[in-house]
Amino acid sequence: MSVLVIATIVIVLQLIFGALMGDRTERIQYNEFLEKLEAGEVALVEVQPDRLIITLAEPVEEAGGFTVRVTPTPEPGGGFFDRAMGNVMTRQADQAAAQAVVVYTGRMPDPELLARLQRHGVEYKASIQTVNYFWMILQFLLPFLLIFGFFILIRRTMSGMMGGRGGIMGIGQSNAKVYMEKKTGVTFNDVAGQEEAKESLTEIVDFLHNPDKYVAIGAQQPKGALLVGPPGTGKTLMAKAVAGEASVVFFSLSGSDFVEMFVGVGASRVRDLFKQAAQQAPCIIFIDEIDAIGKSRDNQLNSNDEREQTLNQLLSEMDGFDSSKGVVILGATNRPEILDKALLRPGRFDRRINVELPDLKGRVDILKVHAKKVKMSDKVDLSRIGKITPGAAGADLANMINEAALHAVRMKRQEVQQEDLMEAVEVVIAGKEKKDRIMTEKEKRIVAYHEVGHALVSALLKDAKPVEKITIIPRTKGSLGYVLQAPEEERFMSTKDEMLAEIAVSMGGRAAEQVHFDVMTTGASNDIEKATRMARSMVSMYGMSDKFGMMNLESVGNRYLDGRAVLNVSDATGADLDKEVGKILQECYTRAVNLLQENEHKMKEIAEYLFNKETMTGDEFMELYKKEAEATAEVEAPAEMETPTEVEAPTEVEAPAEAE
Ligand code: ADP
Ligand code: MG
Ligand code: ZN
Repeated sequence: MSVLVIATIVIVLQLIFGALMGDRTERIQYNEFLEKLEAGEVALVEVQPDRLIITLAEPVEEAGGFTVRVTPTPEPGGGFFDRAMGNVMTRQADQAAAQAVVVYTGRMPDPELLARLQRHGVEYKASIQTVNYFWMILQFLLPFLLIFGFFILIRRTMSGMMGGRGGIMGIGQSNAKVYMEKKTGVTFNDVAGQEEAKESLTEIVDFLHNPDKYVAIGAQQPKGALLVGPPGTGKTLMAKAVAGEASVVFFSLSGSDFVEMFVGVGASRVRDLFKQAAQQAPCIIFIDEIDAIGKSRDNQLNSNDEREQTLNQLLSEMDGFDSSKGVVILGATNRPEILDKALLRPGRFDRRINVELPDLKGRVDILKVHAKKVKMSDKVDLSRIGKITPGAAGADLANMINEAALHAVRMKRQEVQQEDLMEAVEVVIAGKEKKDRIMTEKEKRIVAYHEVGHALVSALLKDAKPVEKITIIPRTKGSLGYVLQAPEEERFMSTKDEMLAEIAVSMGGRAAEQVHFDVMTTGASNDIEKATRMARSMVSMYGMSDKFGMMNLESVGNRYLDGRAVLNVSDATGADLDKEVGKILQECYTRAVNLLQENEHKMKEIAEYLFNKETMTGDEFMELYKKEAEATAEVEAPAEMETPTEVEAPTEVEAPAEAE
């Protein structure tokens, strides 16, 4: 290809060059030529079919009254292109040598020309038109070559876009985008938490280390294991760690790499991949996002021939290869429910390894692993960060550490501090602070009451989670303020009371608006959504309603992604379900309103504090909450008007009281 391009460029340049050179030769009229001939100024004439090339002999020096005429001696020779260009080059050489001027004129049908030349003693010659076949053929082919080159270029670009060499012409000689790593450099130490998953994978590592041990006893080897879990929990990382631990070659590619525009390409890629892997055994083949090819085939609506062929090829390759050679296939997906059943049966991905969201200990461990990568102050308490991040995946936590480091740099600190981490958590959860958002006093006050409403209901209901932080500084992910809650201990299931309390806490924001300002704002939409989702799952999935009892009305479609539910019941029952959900929500809202009405004084106190400070910690909140509680308890009998002094007074008394 490149040779072709270079040749083309050279030829084109030669043409341009030649043309320019040719133009330098001046053209004279035939009669002018005859005049010069008569005057004896012509030294050499070369007769060509259509023109005469005339070399003029010029007076160069006047020596002793004689005019010395220099006659150039033409030299034969010159390269291929010279001849091809009609001796332009040769003439130029002559010209340079003799400083003679070369001109040309059109050839006239002049029968006396020869006689005239002889008469004046002019040297003459006829040029022999050497037909250069190579040149001629090249000239003829050039356009085709150019077009062909262009075509190749386009095809390259296209197949580049489609991934690999599997273009129109390349079917079968596919070159799957396989990322082969001799050493992944990742070990189980880099994967924190996920102890069960690691344990299951250790066996695979052991098998890759010494397959003979297993062969000797006649144990069938696991052919494949499927890592299943929500996004960002470290599935990809773990697959790499297996390869790293076993120190074997790691082939990795993504399921979507197989799916091509042309039917059959994906299948041939699968074949290719297994062939390569067999040569490199022992090794690991890792197919990430396997749901892209492994989608169940019985879906009538959007059947996809290409994908099915690819899947079939994968199935037959998995059946065909000899696992005793030490090839293990790992797959990863976050949508196990859509996988074709054939992929999951024994002898294929027969092992399923769940990689779940980390629990408290797991989160702290993950934070520790990533904290090693940054300079961190000794005083940092990672377990506190772990506590306020329930539901965060490993990727989120890794991201938080990085955000904290970035924040530390912004703050011109040498090492990461606790407050950088706290800020990072909030950035990941709620986005960056929006300092330029200007809220009116009134709006800000409503937000303060709203957030305190959540926090207060939470504190008043012992089943709800304690408050970690309350803020009314708006953030970029759309919140005007929020309450950060941290469960005291990790919960793996919830009781009905806890769920009802949670719903009431969600309702607390709107309830506060209602109780204090008697307004409704749009700020509660997220709360409503969350509360509704919880109430609905209580009825439809957890059997927590009197009306339906232990009846499943909905099932979760994809558990690891958005968790959207699919309704399993008739429309009539669906309507009843909605009614039941509405009832729960109404009850919880009433409960929140009642709680806040009973404690309106307390709410006011805390909300005004928050309004002024914009951010308060959980400790500050609890202090105000408790102080208020004691104050109200003490002034239960006396008149309300004494409160201001009473509020001030206990501050001093409180410390010893608490010490007891
Ligand atoms: P998945 O494949 O499950 O979507 P990844 O393996 O790509 O998730 O994880 C993304 C990143 O998150 C990893 O590169 C790693 O930095 C971090 N991470 C996730 N889980 C863990 C874990 N258990 N331990 C340490 N780091 C983790
Ligand atoms: Mg992944
Ligand atoms: Zn709210």
